[in-house]
Amino acid sequence: MLRPIVLYPDPRLKLKSKPVTQFTPELRELAADMTETMRRANGIGLAAIQIGEPIRMMVMDVNYDAEDKGESLALFNPEVLNEDGTEAIEEGCLSIPDVREVIERAFKLKVKGQLLDGSEKTFEFEGLLARCVLHEIDHMNGMLFIQKVPAVKRLFLKRQLDELKKSYKEAARL
Ligand code: ZN
Repeated sequence: MLRPIVLYPDPRLKLKSKPVTQFTPELRELAADMTETMRRANGIGLAAIQIGEPIRMMVMDVNYDAEDKGESLALFNPEVLNEDGTEAIEEGCLSIPDVREVIERAFKLKVKGQLLDGSEKTFEFEGLLARCVLHEIDHMNGMLFIQKVPAVKRLFLKRQLDELKKSYKEAARL
């Protein structure tokens, strides 16, 4: 089932999400909904708070390429074990439509997390996938990628964000 994506500047995006402790069958349904919502919006990752669920859960297309969207991974309580190297490339967010900014993040990532059955697993990701996991962990901590934009680039960004704030208010009035 498609779920509405929480849009900037919705205050829920500032919430710190809670760890998942009960791996109930409902989480499978939530993961399926999140994956469907993410793909429909042409994203490669989505954090649960982006559909209004303040829990430390994310989905990601792990074999992403333009032709084949591959398998989706649902990851719970992700925790960074190690970061290596950096890369600065353009990044966007389904909750902040049309805003893209160059953000520096680790290139390689070792991350520990839990799967849908609650079992623990360690993953190593590179490039876009490493970036995606770090972006979603930021969401779980109430942080948005626009907060990582260097000061010198914030003026243009501010104009774009003001537009989004305006349309958010207009939508709320409907
Ligand atoms: Zn995002």
